[in-house]
Amino acid sequence: MKLADVLVIGGGPVGSYVAHELASMAHEVVVLEQKERLGLEVCCTGIISQQCVSDFAIDDDIILKRLNSARIFSPSAGLIRLWRPETQACVVDRAALDLAMARRAQAAGAQYMLACPVKRIEVRQDRVVVEVVRHKEKKGFSAKAVVIASGFNPGLVGSLGLGRISDFTTGAQTEVTTKGIDEVEVYTGREIAPGFFAWLVPTSPNRARLGLLSRNRPRLYLNRLISSLVAQGKINQAGEGLKCRHLPLRTLPRTYGDRLVVVGDAAGQVKPTTGGGIYYGLLSARLAAQSLHRALVKNDLSARSLVSYQRGWQEKLGQDIRLGYLARRFYQLLGDRQLDKIFDILKKNGIVEALLKEDDLSFDEHGKVILSLARQRFLGKIAEVIKIPFRIGAD
Ligand SMILES: Cc1cc2nc3c(=O)[nH]c(=O)nc-3n(C[C@H](O)[C@H](O)[C@H](O)COP(=O)(O)OP(=O)(O)OC[C@H]3O[C@@H](n4cnc5c(N)ncnc54)[C@H](O)[C@@H]3O)c2cc1C
Repeated sequence: MKLADVLVIGGGPVGSYVAHELASMAHEVVVLEQKERLGLEVCCTGIISQQCVSDFAIDDDIILKRLNSARIFSPSAGLIRLWRPETQACVVDRAALDLAMARRAQAAGAQYMLACPVKRIEVRQDRVVVEVVRHKEKKGFSAKAVVIASGFNPGLVGSLGLGRISDFTTGAQTEVTTKGIDEVEVYTGREIAPGFFAWLVPTSPNRARLGLLSRNRPRLYLNRLISSLVAQGKINQAGEGLKCRHLPLRTLPRTYGDRLVVVGDAAGQVKPTTGGGIYYGLLSARLAAQSLHRALVKNDLSARSLVSYQRGWQEKLGQDIRLGYLARRFYQLLGDRQLDKIFDILKKNGIVEALLKEDDLSFDEHGKVILSLARQRFLGKIAEVIKIPFRIGAD
C-alpha cells in the first residue's frame, strides 16, 4: 500500500491549516480527529485580531462581532476604557471556524478520518506509525511524517523525547444572555480569577461569552462570577453548557524530531498574557507546512532537516512569548491593592492614551506593548509604588 505523505493528528484550526497548506502543495495528507464531528464541544471565546482575519482569509460569515473597545475593571471596580476608531479584533463562531478550515483543507485534497483518537505514535526508520482506537478496534496508520496538532495533550507528546510544557492553566467558559452589554468587559482581582482575569465578550445584541482563566477551581470562580453579574443586572440567569479546557502558558522545549513536528496548543504556541492561541498557532502551522514541504521534496525528514520549523516560529514569536510570560508572572504576584494602584498609575500618567496613540502597536504583539510600557518608564513607576521581589528570567 502506498504510504501517505503526512498524518495530521487533530482537526482543530491549526491541524486543518497545516493540512490545507500541505495538500495545496500536492502532498497526500490524512487528518485523524478524535471527535465524531468537527467543531463539536469547542471551548474558546474566538477573539482573533483583524490581522489574523486578513492573513488567513477568515470568511466574513463566521465573524459574529467586530471589536474596537474594551472596558477593563480593577479589583475595586476602577475602570479603564480602551478604544480605537478602527476594528482591533473580531469574535468568530469557533465551531464554524473549525469547519471552515477543515472544508478548505478537504477542497485542497486532504482526507479526514473522524472518530479516530490517536493513542500512540511510533517513529521508525522509514515511516511513522500511529495507533488509533476506532470504535473499540485498534487500527494503524502510516505516513512519511506526522504533525501533532492535538491541542494541549501532554499524554500524546510526552513519550517522544521533546520535553514537556512546564506551565499551564485552565480556561472555563459559558454562554450567557446579557442586558445592554455592547463592549468587551474584563474583570480582575483575586476573588474573580486569581492571577488571571475574566471576560464578558458580546457575540450579538443580547448574548455573550463569559469566561475566565484560573489555575484551580475554574468552575467555582465562574459560577461565583455569574452570580455577581446577575446581581449587578449585567446578565440574566446562569449560562448554558459551562466547559473547561487546559491552556499552555509555556512552549514545548522541542517542537520537531525525526519525521515529526508539533504545532499549536500542543507546542504551547499561545500568548501567555491572554491565552489567545489561534493566531500564533496558524502562523506556526504555515511555517511547519513550509518546513515539511521542503523536507518531503528533499526526501530528508530527519530532525536536522525539520529544525528550520522551530527556528522559524521562534524567530517570529519567541520574543513575544518570552516577554509575555514574564509579564504574566509579574501580574500573578500582584495583590488586589497593588493592581488598583497600577490602574491609578495607568490612568493618572496618561499611559493608556499614549499607548493607544502608538500606530505600530498591534493586538497580537504583546512583547511590543511591554517594551513600549518600559519606554514610558511605566515599570519604574510601578516599582516605586509596589515592592515586589521579582527576578527577571528565572523560573
Ligand atoms: C476558555 C478559553 C478561551 C479561549 N479564547 C481564545 C480566544 O478568544 N482567542 C484565541 O486566539 N484563543 C483562545 N483560546 C485558545 C484557543 O482555543 C487555542 O489556542 C486553539 O484552539 C488552538 O488550536 P489547536 O488547533 O492547536 O488545538 P485545538 O483547537 O484544541 O484542536 C485540537 C484538535 O485535536 C483533537 N485531538 C486531541 N487529541 C487527539 C487525539 N489523541 N487523536 C485525534 N485527535 C485529537 C481535538 O479533538 C481537537 O479537535 C481559548 C482557550 C480557552 C480554554
